[in-house]
Amino acid sequence: MGHQRNARERADAGPLELAAARMTRRPPTLRLGQLTGTWATVYAERDRLEADADRDALAAWRALLGDVDLADVVALAAENPPPPGSDEQARLRRQHLQQALAAAVLARLTLLSRAPGWARFLAVLASGLAGANATGAASGDAVTSSADTVAAGQPAAPGAGEDVAAYLLAAQALKGLAATVARVLLAGAADGATSAQLAKAARGVLAEALPLTLAVATAVAVAFTAGLTSAYLAFGAGELAFITAGDTNVCATCAAAEDANPYPVASVPAPPLHPNCRCTLQPA
Ligand SMILES: [Zn+2]
Repeated sequence: MGHQRNARERADAGPLELAAARMTRRPPTLRLGQLTGTWATVYAERDRLEADADRDALAAWRALLGDVDLADVVALAAENPPPPGSDEQARLRRQHLQQALAAAVLARLTLLSRAPGWARFLAVLASGLAGANATGAASGDAVTSSADTVAAGQPAAPGAGEDVAAYLLAAQALKGLAATVARVLLAGAADGATSAQLAKAARGVLAEALPLTLAVATAVAVAFTAGLTSAYLAFGAGELAFITAGDTNVCATCAAAEDANPYPVASVPAPPLHPNCRCTLQPA
């Protein structure tokens, strides 16, 4: 967990000098790691939610991997090592190979939508998003009532909106996975790897599935913010404030969003503004 948090903070880091300069002229609003009361509970809930959704999505995804067959794509990569050199022609050739391999991998991954585990994978994604929305709403209720605990979100059954969002999320994850597999195949082929080595590397990328877990974490954060905002609206909040994590890892985009507070509810920038964004909203 500590390790994961550090990785997140690094990923959230914008230009440090800029962030540091901003910090000197405006007080931080939230200090992650030193949170108390409602916000500590809300952030703990959000972290737990994200970890659960990632774990469940990864398990459902890995159950599908037995049905992936990349043998022909791996052979294609092994037979077409990218040209060395830094000239324009070599660069264009590598770019073309990357695109062709990514398209070929994506075509194989898309076949998974006919696999027995696919419906279950989509259902896991949808219920993760529904849970995030419900917990966001419960967190919004806790913030507006200054409660120390977040009432457990209803074990929300996914609606049509979540089903569509899960489908889009799966499509985005497959695209990201295909591009990552293609990059690994290309790099391996450039190093003269054998087909067996390339196949192993591709399997490793698919099993680790970083593009999937990142996409899930981002989608969960979007659903959480949507739930939070709906609770603030129900409470009657007229304006909302964009709240950064209040440390030097806050990126310039999020710091600028906080500087422009408050916002009408309809036009507030909704976190996450980027992957691994740790920002949130509260009534202004
Ligand atoms: Zn942010």
